[in-house]
Amino acid sequence: MEMQHFIHECPLTLTPSDKYYSDDDYRCELCRGRIFEASVYVCFKCDIVLHKSCAELPREINHLFHPQHPLTLIARPPGKHFKCDVCGCPFWNAKYHCSQCDFELDPACASLMPIANHDDNNSHTSPHVHPHPFIPCFTEKKFAYCSGCSKFIEDTIYVCLQCKFVLHEACTKFPYKIRHIFHPQHPLVLTKAGTAYEIGSLELCTACRADFNGFTYHCAECKFSLDMNCVSLRPIVKFKLHQHPLAFFKDNEKGNKFGCACCGCNKCNHFFRCVECDFNFHLHCVPTLPLTRKHQCHRHSLTLTKSPIRDSPEEDENSEFYCDVCETPRYLPNPTYYCAECHFVAHVSCMIYEDDLPGLGEEPCLVVELEREIEIEDGEESDSEDSTLAKLNKEMEAITAKLEILKQERARHISSQAQLRSARLRLLHRSTV
Ligand SMILES: [Zn+2]
Ligand SMILES: [Zn+2]
Ligand SMILES: [Zn+2]
Ligand SMILES: [Zn+2]
Ligand SMILES: [Zn+2]
Ligand SMILES: [Zn+2]
Ligand SMILES: [Zn+2]
Ligand SMILES: [Zn+2]
Repeated sequence: MEMQHFIHECPLTLTPSDKYYSDDDYRCELCRGRIFEASVYVCFKCDIVLHKSCAELPREINHLFHPQHPLTLIARPPGKHFKCDVCGCPFWNAKYHCSQCDFELDPACASLMPIANHDDNNSHTSPHVHPHPFIPCFTEKKFAYCSGCSKFIEDTIYVCLQCKFVLHEACTKFPYKIRHIFHPQHPLVLTKAGTAYEIGSLELCTACRADFNGFTYHCAECKFSLDMNCVSLRPIVKFKLHQHPLAFFKDNEKGNKFGCACCGCNKCNHFFRCVECDFNFHLHCVPTLPLTRKHQCHRHSLTLTKSPIRDSPEEDENSEFYCDVCETPRYLPNPTYYCAECHFVAHVSCMIYEDDLPGLGEEPCLVVELEREIEIEDGEESDSEDSTLAKLNKEMEAITAKLEILKQERARHISSQAQLRSARLRLLHRSTV
């Protein structure tokens, strides 16, 4: 089978792609990708190849995502990539392009077909949930990963062109704007990885410092991001050594990035933290830990022990030590719960449950009041917005009234000038006669 393709002047022949073309020297003329498909279009004379799927893409399309103008297929220059204006993702492929608007669409998103008259088309446009309409779409190409949860989308795909979201139905339900006590200054807006900052820069949750995929709540002004795990956290205990209540971060794998204000070490993944002040405090450094503790794993009660527990005297810090409850390593200098009789050693974190945490506080934890303060502030913000608007409206009214007066005055001047001129002309005429 032969075809004439706009990318190349000679006719192309459909050929099975044998091992010969899988060589890295052969790249598809359109997408610059390697040859992996079973058949390719080849120009034997010029030794160029096109994926069958790429060669069969229409050269020009009309798409509802950019209804103003038709979109033209453009080959990817070697070494370059594009960024899709629908899903917001970088892509290494040919693009559909509108040169008038510089609108770029990856061929995968171009395959998304809006579903006309979808029954719940408008149920997603409630401004309280999301201020932009979601366009329900389907595609025959199975490619779409949810911008929110990063999972594959099996059924209807919901697109928000303003936010560049491609979502599961369930992921369209997240509130667009929230207030969070970790960043009381500003509201946080639902954003996805790859759009908040330039692509390639690291995106980390400000609260737990884990890198994230998918949704975050973000303050662009402060570059503050909360991943979906940390959104559910809030301060729960108040200790004397910090003026704010602290939230608990359990088994945080980035624990080594948080130095403890008490012991200075960063070898523990369980800690209390004030996100606003970047103040961290290990669980095992808490002064109010119970002195003895009972665990179902051991028949005796265990005693809080601050001195390092070795398994034999000749061991030093470089030896490996394990917790007898969870059987994962423990760092020798950290306090433990210990039964000397049986030489049973446990992590502090394995002996303190989440229900115990609020009880460790030294002072009342007034988070509810703090949250109420944020709410009041929020209310005031919109009030002051309203009053600013009212003030501006009044000013505009005053200026418009003044403008009216000036216009009338100007008209009077113009007409009196005209009268003066014609009087002068008449005088001139008379004197020349
Ligand atoms: Zn290709
Ligand atoms: Zn896309
Ligand atoms: Zn999802
Ligand atoms: Zn949106
Ligand atoms: Zn902010
Ligand atoms: Zn603080
Ligand atoms: Zn510590
Ligand atoms: Zn343990």
